[in-house]
Amino acid sequence: MREGGSLGLLRERNRRRVVEFLRRQGVASQADIARATGLSRSTISTLIMELRGAGLINEAADGQNPPTSPPRSGPGGRPPVLLGLDDSAGTAVGIDFGHSHVRVGVANLSHRVTAERRREFSVVHNAAGALDTATEMVAQVLADAAIDRERVIGVGMGVPGPIDRRRGTIGSASILPGWVGLAPSDEMSRRLQLPVEIDNDANLGALAEVYWGAGRGRSDVIYVKASTGIGAGIVLGGELYRGAAGTAGEIGHTTVDEQGPLCRCGSRGCLETVAGGPAVVEQVRRTQADVLTLGAVLERAAAGDPACRRAIADAGLQIGVSMAALCNILNPELIVVGGQLSEAGELLLEPLRESLRRYAVPAAAESVSVVRGVLGERAEMLGALALVLQATNRFLSERITALGRGEARKGPRVFRQASA
Ligand SMILES: [Zn+2]
Repeated sequence: MREGGSLGLLRERNRRRVVEFLRRQGVASQADIARATGLSRSTISTLIMELRGAGLINEAADGQNPPTSPPRSGPGGRPPVLLGLDDSAGTAVGIDFGHSHVRVGVANLSHRVTAERRREFSVVHNAAGALDTATEMVAQVLADAAIDRERVIGVGMGVPGPIDRRRGTIGSASILPGWVGLAPSDEMSRRLQLPVEIDNDANLGALAEVYWGAGRGRSDVIYVKASTGIGAGIVLGGELYRGAAGTAGEIGHTTVDEQGPLCRCGSRGCLETVAGGPAVVEQVRRTQADVLTLGAVLERAAAGDPACRRAIADAGLQIGVSMAALCNILNPELIVVGGQLSEAGELLLEPLRESLRRYAVPAAAESVSVVRGVLGERAEMLGALALVLQATNRFLSERITALGRGEARKGPRVFRQASA
């Protein structure tokens, strides 16, 4: 049956609101959906019946994993029935290339990770080998989850280095020597015969924390990855903000000291030169020559070493200065700090908050909380999955339109696919 007129448009708009809410939330009860959309319980019941009938949503087998919210109970203490987008609506694949590992996972559209594998591999120097390994692992996780490749709507991918998003190539010879000039997403897409989208680690970390971690359910969040480099992923209105050239969030290369040391980016006194991993290690090494890695600094700081604690606290203060400027401009509700330096916990976060109190306008400083990321080394793979989940807008929209026209569903994919 074809729906027409203003009533048809209203129904379609309401269906979109329900599907859009579930797309962001993963799973929710009927009461949650009513609350979030402001629609009456009876309207929601009708919409859910239609959407279930069309195979777009279904009862979720269980909650998301990793579980981060406390178990909920409905009236009479029974847990409420949770709804999510149906498995048939599609499957997302996520690939994370670390320096020395490859991690691959599969998730359904109700944000449930159904299979995951990790393998040690020297990624930095052997691009082709890493891409082949990932190709093999994708086949394995799809088999683990009993998912047919036809159901995959997109593949998200992260690499441990800067990406030129417009060309899709790796930008830095010093960071990823084996990958220079390569377009990893095209290479991966050709191997998998699936559409692949690539992004940097800070953006992936931001998406992961918003979908699964410390920022779950929040819409204006800045994720700071503080490791060797310092980068931020910016989520505004629930969507990743990348800017005109994809460089949004490069806070590591904002100037904090005009007379400071030269930076690998060619500028001087960048945040990274005073608060990045190597800078923290370098400061400690002036008095403790045997400290060679950020891991060693973190270990000694945890054991109470005053110089190591001071170096980490000062990095927190400096990161906070840059974050204060970002808070004045964007007014986020939450800052999530991830990356190796965040293992220092409050030792890093409290000085960061102190800088926000000192340098951000009071209203911006008071409205933002600063927490540590909770996803650890799974953050990038989960973010790669979320990259696909975030791109399902258009795909779901087409299915809802088809539903209004009474057409059978078809399965478009969410990203462009490289030709064979
Ligand atoms: Zn720089």
